[in-house]
Amino acid sequence: MIVLRYIPTQDYSFLLDENHYVYDHVEDENSLHIYIKSQKHGCNCPACGKISTKLHATYRRKLQDTPIHCKQTFIHANVYKYDCENPDCSCEVFVEDLSFAKASQVRTDALNTLVLATSMFLSNEGASKVLALLGVQISNDTIQRLYDNIEFVDNPDVEEIGVDDVAIRKGQTYATAIYDIKDHHLIALLDGREGAPLKEWLKTHNKVRIVARDRASAYATAISEILPDCIQVADRFHLLQNLLGYMKDIFKEEMPAKIYIQNGEVMEKAPDKILREKKPDETFIDNLSYDNTPPKDANGNEIVYDNKKHNLNSPQYQHHKEMRKKNSN
Ligand SMILES: [Zn+2]
Repeated sequence: MIVLRYIPTQDYSFLLDENHYVYDHVEDENSLHIYIKSQKHGCNCPACGKISTKLHATYRRKLQDTPIHCKQTFIHANVYKYDCENPDCSCEVFVEDLSFAKASQVRTDALNTLVLATSMFLSNEGASKVLALLGVQISNDTIQRLYDNIEFVDNPDVEEIGVDDVAIRKGQTYATAIYDIKDHHLIALLDGREGAPLKEWLKTHNKVRIVARDRASAYATAISEILPDCIQVADRFHLLQNLLGYMKDIFKEEMPAKIYIQNGEVMEKAPDKILREKKPDETFIDNLSYDNTPPKDANGNEIVYDNKKHNLNSPQYQHHKEMRKKNSN
């Protein structure tokens, strides 16, 4: 009986999501095209929430994705349009949404993330060139448009926030980032890292009870001034940074530059040096027996080794001899 231990996988959920499967792919030297379809035929109406299985039409979305093996990679998705079967619903036809790409986008969310992450430390032109080497085709204008589309959704009812200063564009300018502590998403980005913009922002967010902040006293003063009852805590990173800073100071002040330890005891001062002549182990040497008999050839004659090039009368050898004499005197 043959036991199949390994079975080729049909599960491509790691590529996109649980709902889509790969049905074909086409590859050439520079690009890879992956064709996908939805597993289930049914979708919830975005307006009323009722599930519909009534297919209206299908169409194809072509999305550029994160490159596989540095080849420009495209996802071709068969996307369904459904009729809403709820007679009371205002929505008649709706489109199945893809969990990995926003509607009307020509790139997957993962690729947009990669583009933004790459361009964070580069100019748009530089990012476009680096991404091209990785297998992503995107113009510098499109990168700029991605940046322009980033929107911070402020929440006036937020109660717990984190405040930190961030460097923008290689530390040339600074900003104050305000994020929701619950999931660390950014809700505001204020100009500069002084207290004034934070003060203005706090005036319209007076439900804030807890602020995790860095050590900057500018933020501390701004918070106490606008929301005196608010609890200010140092975030984990800055707590550790504080602790390490204090520990360094303590070590610098309290610890001597050199510590002497002898027999497990810390000594007040350097122990006296003990000078001891190192001697070979006599018993060990006495026990060695060394065979000094010359080797013999097959006929029992001694083999004499000599260096035929050794000319004891050569000027070089004579010179060495003189030098040895001089040095020994
Ligand atoms: Zn509906």
